[in-house]
Parts: sequence; structure tokens; C-alpha cells
Amino acid sequence: MPDSASTAAAIVIAGAGECGTRAAFALREQGWDGPVILAGAEPSPPYERPPLSKTGELKPICDPAALREADITFLPGAEAAGLDTAAHVLELAGGRRLPYRSLLLATGARARRLPFGGAPVHVLRTHADSVALRGRLAPGRRVAVIGGGFIGLELASSAAALGCAVTVIELGPRLMGRAVPARVAAVMAQRHVAAGVDIRCGTGVTGLERTASGVMITLAEGGIVEADVVVAGVGAAPETSLAEAAGIEVADGIVVDVRFATSAPDVFAAGDCCRYPHPLYDDRPLRLESWRAAQEHGTAAARAMLGGTEPYAGVPWFWTDQYDVKMQMAGLSAGHDRAVVRGNPDTGRSFAVFYLREGTLIAVDAVNRAPEFMMSRQLIAERARIDPARLGDESVAMKDMRT
Ligand SMILES: Cc1cc2nc3c(=O)[nH]c(=O)nc-3n(C[C@H](O)[C@H](O)[C@H](O)COP(=O)(O)OP(=O)(O)OC[C@H]3O[C@@H](n4cnc5c(N)ncnc54)[C@H](O)[C@@H]3O)c2cc1C
Repeated sequence: MPDSASTAAAIVIAGAGECGTRAAFALREQGWDGPVILAGAEPSPPYERPPLSKTGELKPICDPAALREADITFLPGAEAAGLDTAAHVLELAGGRRLPYRSLLLATGARARRLPFGGAPVHVLRTHADSVALRGRLAPGRRVAVIGGGFIGLELASSAAALGCAVTVIELGPRLMGRAVPARVAAVMAQRHVAAGVDIRCGTGVTGLERTASGVMITLAEGGIVEADVVVAGVGAAPETSLAEAAGIEVADGIVVDVRFATSAPDVFAAGDCCRYPHPLYDDRPLRLESWRAAQEHGTAAARAMLGGTEPYAGVPWFWTDQYDVKMQMAGLSAGHDRAVVRGNPDTGRSFAVFYLREGTLIAVDAVNRAPEFMMSRQLIAERARIDPARLGDESVAMKDMRT
């Protein structure tokens, strides 16, 4: 049986992470005074994921009282298990049915796992994952991180800081191969080596075996790594199962338009789970895993659920903290025809690399360079044409780049 008739006019959100929670508050900020139901599969109130791989702290997205004050019905431990798009009903595991006027799927992503049994392997996506992993990090422990992307490397840096003996095993020829160019990755690799981390690039893992003293990892090239704790940081897959089962179009992410509308009437999807066409990049469909994008998607999806028609065109941006290095990236550098360096990458301390296409700034990677990052975000959004010589000239302040 559906819940009471009043919920038929409800806006229902499946997934109480960064995107879903932001969307719930944005509905109120944008004047919706009907029911808002925020159903999250996890048992805890909404929390931030970025600290899980950095400090490990549990940082709430909001005070639970703020949800009550905004009259948002928050349902923890409420996994959405079925969706009838014709009847406009979301069904929770356990059978509770939530009729909706509009539905937002903000189900995020789940950590990919290694295709081997044989030994316990940690992943890091949820607070529960973090508690399980942090409990095993201690000085002297041998920690093997499989995957040299952001999350694996952040974890490597925090484990090294705790006194663990860390090995990073990366299949690709270098670290962070999907996300940053070689010269930027090289700076981070040096920082890890300086902290005592053993970096093994260009080698896959072919098997794991539990031994009397821990876990033995067999490498494709024939060597082995022995560890007490093994963590897989091998990426995340969009959580699309609910949408797929309901017949909604999915293609490595729930396919949405510039307003986050899916192929089903009154069903929207946003955050890590969606793939959307980006006006800044010739409407190329993108799937991002970005904290800030998830928030902005939530706000934009709320606007769309209330009838807004404005397309979302936020500049993608991301950051990573490893040791004393804050790397901030804005825009997408694919397709650039010129790269300009500001500062000296050889010192590894502070520099920025700008990417231009036909004279237009399209992306930046900034290492301990907040002003370059902040200003570039604006310039990328404006599709500003910038003189490359000025970008590379430290005597020209970033705020003066337009002139
Ligand atoms: C360890 C870690 C570190 C990160 N660090 C950074 C960083 O430094 N910088 C950065 O920009 N980004 C970072 N990110 C990425 C960022 O956290 C994500 O992009 C962001 O959390 C995505 O928000 P979301 O709401 O789309 O998804 P999530 O935050 O994944 O939230 C989705 C929620 O939906 C729930 N859910 C799933 N299925 C269902 C269902 N059927 N019913 C109900 N609920 C469901 C999930 O349990 C989850 O709570 C990091 C991510 C991780 C995991």
C-alpha cells in the first residue's frame, strides 16, 4: 500500500550523500513547501566522503537538526529497491512504498573490487569501509595499496604519515594516469618516494593469497609483495541498478539531459551516478566523481524538479591532498593544443599548468597555487581567450589575466 495520500505530492530523493542532501535543502531554498523525503541506504546521517581517504574523520554534511528544521523527512537505512515509473512509486527494501511527484536518483557510485578471492581486501567508499580500514593501520604495518589514483594515493600518504610501510601497485605506466598529465604526476610520485613509499608502476596483480604472516600479492611481472593490509583503490562504478531495473536509459551512468532529467517522466538523476552532456565541452557526455559537482548537480536538479529550464554548465573541479601538497584541478584538459607552465615544477612545491585550445583556457592543474586555481575556474567558465605569455609570466597577477 502507498503511504498516505499526502506523500503523492512529495519530492523523493534516493541517496542521502553529497548530491541528494544538497538537493533536499535546495528544494526548500527555492521555495518548495511540499513534502521532501530523503531516503539513504546508509545507517548514518549524511556525511562527507573526501575526509575518509585523508584524515579519516567523520564529517557530517549537516546537523541532523537542520534536516528537521527544513522539514525534510530523512530516512536512514532506507535502501530504494524498486521503481515503478508509470505509477510514480519508489519502493524501499522492506516494502514501504513512496509515491512521488518528482524523484531524484542520487545513488552515487560504489567502489570497484578486485576479481580475486583468497585474502581480505579493503575498499574505501563509505564510513563503514573507513572504520574497518583505519582500525588496521598502525606504525610498522605493511600496507599495499592497489591502484595509484587519487583515493589510493591519499590513503598511501596518510598511512605513511602513521608510520606504515606502504607499497603502491599501479597497472598503468605512471600514477594518476586518468586524471593528470605526466609532469604533474611525476611531482606527486617524487613526494611519495621521499616519504618512503615504494611505488611499483606498470605491473598488474594476478593473485592474492593469505599467508601465516599476512597476504602475499603476486604481480604480473613475476614478483611478490607481502602485506598486512591490502586496499584496492581501483575506481568506482556508478550505482545504476535501480534505474536499469526500471528501464531507464543507462550507459556507464544514468543518462540525463542538461537539466538532469532521465528517460523516465519526472525522474531525475544527478551526482556521481549520472552521465550528462556538458555545454562547455561540446555537449560531450561526462560522468564525474567530484564533491563540488555533486553539490552543484543537487542544486540544479532541485531547480529542474521545480520546473526550471536552465541548463547546468558548471566547470568541473576536483582536489586532492597528499602530504603537504594540495593539488586542485579545474576544467578538462583533453583536446588542448598548448600547455603553459607558471612557476617551477622541478622544485615540486608550487606551480600551475594551464591548458589552452585555440587560445581559450580550458583547464588548469594547480599545485599549492590557490589563486591560479580560483581565477582559472572563472576564466574557463567565461571561455576566456588568454595570452599564453601572460599566463606563464609570474609578474602578471592572475586577477589581471583578462586584460
Ligand atoms: C574516499 C573518497 C575521497 C574523495 N575525495 C574527494 C576529493 O578530495 N575531492 C573531490 O572533489 N571529490 C572527492 N571524492 C568524490 C566525492 O566524494 C563524490 O564525488 C561525492 O560524494 C558524490 O556525491 P553523490 O551524492 O553523487 O554520491 P555519494 O556521496 O556516493 O552518495 C550516494 C548515496 O546514495 C546511497 N545509495 C546508493 N544506492 C541507494 C539506494 N538504492 N537507495 C538509497 N540510497 C542509496 C549510498 O549509500 C550513498 O550514501 C571522494 C570520494 C571518496 C569515496
